[in-house]
Amino acid sequence: MQNFEFYNPTRIVFGKDTIAKLAEHVPAEARTLILYGGSSAEKNGTLAEVRAALAGRVFQEFGGIEPNPTYETLMRAVETIRRDKLDFLLAVGGGSVIDGTKFVAAAVAYTGDAWDILTTHGACVGAALPFGTVLTLPATGSEMNSSSVITRSRTREKLAFGSPHVFPRFSVLDPTKTYSLPLRQVANGVVDSFVHIMEQYLTYPAGGMAQDRFAEGLLQSLIEIGPKVIAQPDNYDLRANFMWIATLALNGLIGAGVPQDWATHMIGHEVTARYDIDHARTLAVVLPAMLRIRKEAKRGKLLQYAQRVWNLHDGSEDERIEAAIARTEAFFESLDIPTRLSAYTIGADAIDDLIAQLDAHGMTALGEREEIGLDVSRRVLEAAL
Ligand code: NAP
Ligand code: FE
Repeated sequence: MQNFEFYNPTRIVFGKDTIAKLAEHVPAEARTLILYGGSSAEKNGTLAEVRAALAGRVFQEFGGIEPNPTYETLMRAVETIRRDKLDFLLAVGGGSVIDGTKFVAAAVAYTGDAWDILTTHGACVGAALPFGTVLTLPATGSEMNSSSVITRSRTREKLAFGSPHVFPRFSVLDPTKTYSLPLRQVANGVVDSFVHIMEQYLTYPAGGMAQDRFAEGLLQSLIEIGPKVIAQPDNYDLRANFMWIATLALNGLIGAGVPQDWATHMIGHEVTARYDIDHARTLAVVLPAMLRIRKEAKRGKLLQYAQRVWNLHDGSEDERIEAAIARTEAFFESLDIPTRLSAYTIGADAIDDLIAQLDAHGMTALGEREEIGLDVSRRVLEAAL
């Protein structure tokens, strides 16, 4: 196992009717900005519960954070906070609102050009406003991690940053708030969390026995409940399991002391930036192609994945590996998520531009061994056509 430090200070407040507990967790003297997305949090009653829980406290609201949150919108929140001297943030929504709030928290405390936060991937962040979250969409794990992905519309760039200063102080997870999700977003959440686990698990054997077994258990749980959370949208136990699995998938626990990949995410971000395809959908296209192209480097873990996650024991090594990748694709497709770029009418002529974007963003040595250069990324994209 590799050396590691594990630090996760986010308090999770989980269960039915837990939004009512917000006043216990938002500091009593705070001047709070509640940040949210489009209309979903208003329509499903989440915002009403938040307002009721904070009645008598000082707060303002900032709506309109888009899916794939934009720098341009978020900088308007930064201005509001500076102007009105607000000192606590509360994100109410999915990964986009939470990621956006992390950026706002860091940008308010930063005196230089706020885009530096993205180009330095968070290295320049020395402080951030404290914030909490109320999660409405299980998918990203952003509610219990210190990462964020921001898009600058003007330049069509989607970049990630991370900093220990942007862990949420607390996150409220009420599974009943997910009942209103469109099934497309539920499927996206299943696939995003599945791929988060794979990015930390499917690398090379590194002796992380607990990490591997945790990861395999989370993958098998997603395979088991994925179709059911879609078929039974208001089944509390299914939604509760899904919500907690998505959080555990990316809160640092399964990635501690083991190699991590993230190449599928980095290539996926370029596809979203260019074509506006949902984050999870880009991952479903890139991951199977990545596993096939990286089969030799990942052979040991692919065999373990085939055996322990998919119970594949028969045939040659190559047959078991191919069967496991095919099962993975079939799982995504069963959730109505395509696994080929052609499903989005993206053809071979798009690849040069995507490679140029990866190059421009310094994504030239990706993967657990940093050996995925632009030539390998090109082969992955070709295999994903
Ligand atoms: P999202 O972009 O936050 O939300 C997608 C859509 O779902 C929005 O239109 C939103 O509508 C709607 N929605 C949210 N909750 C709802 C509810 N309870 N009922 C009905 N509709 C609801 O989706 P996401 O998948 O959570 O986040 C994706 C972003 O996270 C991407 O930018 C991705 O790159 C990033 N990401 C971050 C991490 C990380 O570690 N930080 C990891 C992976 C991905 P409204 O706008 O109307 O609310
Ligand atoms: Fe993701």
